[in-house]
Amino acid sequence: MIYADNAATTRLSPHALEVMTDLAQNAWGNPSSLYELGQRAQEVLADARSRMAKILGAEAKEVYFTSGGSESDNQAIRSCARLGAAKNKRHIVSTAFEHHAVLHTLKRLEKEGYEVTYLPVHENGVVTAQEVQAAIRPDTCLVTVMFANNEIGAIQPIKEIGAVCRAAKVPFHTDAVQAAGHVRIDVKEMNIDLLSLSAHKFHGPRGVGALYCRTGIPLYPLIEGGAQERNRRAGTENVAGICAMVTALEDMVKSLDKNAAYVSALRDKLIAGLETIPHSALNGDRERRLPGNVNFCFEGIEGESLLLLLDQAGICASSGSACTSGSLDPSHVLLAIGRPHEVAHGSLRLTLSEENTEADVDAILQEVPRIVAYLRGFSPIWQDLESGRSQHLL
Ligand SMILES: *Cc1c(COP(=O)(O)O)cnc(C)c1O
Repeated sequence: MIYADNAATTRLSPHALEVMTDLAQNAWGNPSSLYELGQRAQEVLADARSRMAKILGAEAKEVYFTSGGSESDNQAIRSCARLGAAKNKRHIVSTAFEHHAVLHTLKRLEKEGYEVTYLPVHENGVVTAQEVQAAIRPDTCLVTVMFANNEIGAIQPIKEIGAVCRAAKVPFHTDAVQAAGHVRIDVKEMNIDLLSLSAHKFHGPRGVGALYCRTGIPLYPLIEGGAQERNRRAGTENVAGICAMVTALEDMVKSLDKNAAYVSALRDKLIAGLETIPHSALNGDRERRLPGNVNFCFEGIEGESLLLLLDQAGICASSGSACTSGSLDPSHVLLAIGRPHEVAHGSLRLTLSEENTEADVDAILQEVPRIVAYLRGFSPIWQDLESGRSQHLL
């Protein structure tokens, strides 16, 4: 089997698993308990928090542990919205191609009386700091722009957007779930006020994440209950999972440059090979791109059929984000970068990690062109394109 869907989730690293099982067995006390066993868990948790802070360039008291990317996104956005409402500011700036954890939270806030500006995204999948600046109003209470897109891998000018927000005194949140562990992050240097990350996107366990929230920005709890996470997130802490997350992230950051060089070389070979397929197009910027991300549109086919046949060939891939598979709507990200509906339907996302090999890339390059040609062979849409009854768009 070839796993090429690392943007959906990654394999738990053996090191993270080892830490997780060790702590589950040896530091299983409740960190809120006062006896030795509980206090040992408390110490382990405090250590994990300062290590996470160090990785992000933050302080330990600015790190909150959550259940993952979706919860961190929800809490960051809802907190800033509530803070804004208290000052009669109910306008939010975001983009058209955020993850659904952000987009659906924003849609909910619109129903609650907030106004959201969804910045259009350029064809390369990037928004500029100038565009963010132009969208900020006196009543803007939050800017939320993702660090790197989960479908097309486009990396946004986060530091510049952060600077614009800082100058306008508007809190800036970034969903860095795809970036953490893969791209260098420094919240102070990049002017980031709130940042979401999720362990299972960098070889940590599922159901664990973190939210960085800069000192001075009050965070409201989504989950009420005990006093955990300094009253910002109730619930007995997942100590083993949290430590496994921090371990996985430390390991990734330690070899970040080496991994990025290795994975982006595989990515570029894959892109070059897929580009030889007629009437295909790479989605997203070539340079400002996550090391492992490859995303293509092929005219005249359905992405879903391509995925099924790739699965039969032992290749795990996706057509867009895992969250939208199962729905027949084309990806909102591909529509946002201007791909027409009929083209957006024929998309393929392959996301590589440092566990992939050149042999994997060669095997994918054997299968994809063959399957695309096979599917086009009995596609009425393709026949219309080839006979001139309709115009090629790619
Ligand atoms: C996966 C993902 C999320 C959701 O994270 P979970 O931990 O699965 O809730 C949010 N944003 C982006 C960009 C993602 O890729």
